[in-house]
Amino acid sequence: MRTNAARVAGRHFLQIPGPTPVPDRILRAMDMPVLDHRGPEFQRLGRRVLENIKGVFKTKNRVFIYPASGTGAWEAALANVLSPGDKVLMFETGHFATLWKNMAIKLGLEPEFIASDWRTGAEPEAIGARLREDKNHEIKAVCVVHNETSTGCVSPIAAVRKAIDDAGHPALFLVDTISSLASIDFHHDEWGVDVTVSGSQKGLMLPPGLSFNAVSDKALAASKNAKTPKLFWSWEEMIPHNDKGFFPYTPGTNLLYGLDAAIDMLNEEGLDNVFARHDRHAEATRRAVRAWGLEILCRVPEHYSSSLTAVMVPEGFNADDFRAKTLEAFDMSLGTGLTKLTGKVFRIGHLGDTNDLTILGALTGVEMGLELSGIPHRKGGVQAAMDFLVGQARNEARIAAE
Ligand SMILES: *Cc1c(COP(=O)(O)O)cnc(C)c1O
Repeated sequence: MRTNAARVAGRHFLQIPGPTPVPDRILRAMDMPVLDHRGPEFQRLGRRVLENIKGVFKTKNRVFIYPASGTGAWEAALANVLSPGDKVLMFETGHFATLWKNMAIKLGLEPEFIASDWRTGAEPEAIGARLREDKNHEIKAVCVVHNETSTGCVSPIAAVRKAIDDAGHPALFLVDTISSLASIDFHHDEWGVDVTVSGSQKGLMLPPGLSFNAVSDKALAASKNAKTPKLFWSWEEMIPHNDKGFFPYTPGTNLLYGLDAAIDMLNEEGLDNVFARHDRHAEATRRAVRAWGLEILCRVPEHYSSSLTAVMVPEGFNADDFRAKTLEAFDMSLGTGLTKLTGKVFRIGHLGDTNDLTILGALTGVEMGLELSGIPHRKGGVQAAMDFLVGQARNEARIAAE
């Protein structure tokens, strides 16, 4: 029972797909006295983060910041643009899409759920076909999860936008980027997204507790007529305060110091480099999984996630037993299978503040955990990942020398 000792040496390997490890620089940035959230120092911070967060969403429009987990920002997105009785079209990418759909029901909306097998991202053709049938434009919004964290499948957002346009349908487009923002490229403005939902504790490398709505002019216009009751989530309440760098209620002041630092870190590395790093660690992970002879849950290679990889365990084995053994022996947390995937998959998070050696450490822990749990596999997954990462490093060195 190594992890039950009074002290476990070294750093815990938090390899779940969020929350993700918080870099020391962000922890230090948050280590500040709590300040007056109506005072001039906060105002400077408020103005800075409200402005600079736009670059991460690739938008020139407003981004609202809530002291809430991602679930809050989901509710904010629905409540601000829709009214009870409104039809919304959602795609069943997995557990998180299902939770968002259930929330829509609780808010009095009428979601229509396009069924899927939890092994692919959303299908633009199916969404376009349904919208073309909706001649009277009863569907008021299309809701898609960009990166389905329960399955490791990414939805093609630009293609869904095109499907909505090709159908000539005026529905709003709402996208959940909670586990993709700052990990997988996303363009709020260019892709014509009306509300982008996100959270702090995944690609943004912050602790849980902040969440976001990036909006379009069309969404702001829709919010004027939306009848779903709200106060805490109301954009209208936020706007006059945000315009001065303030919030209508007490914001998560210390988390905002952290957000300020996180945005700086992302910009210093360069968002394109951040995405390339996530792509590289995802590919290294998939090569390890294939070398072990295990199956990747996502069955559409174009939809592979760069934030996480869900790995299926063979029939007759329980992924949660494997996860428990790996935690106990090697102090590493892996993501569990959610709802209908319980026991069938484990998820390796490779998002946030991860480097080549971190991901190799994680993969080493998985390979040893497989052995310890008696899950049939071949050796050599870590070797396959190392070979890939060395090759990548060699290419980069060559390009740098040219
Ligand atoms: C984590 C996550 C959520 C839920 O966010 P909370 O911060 O736990 O409320 C919703 N959607 C996706 C895609 C997620 O990854």
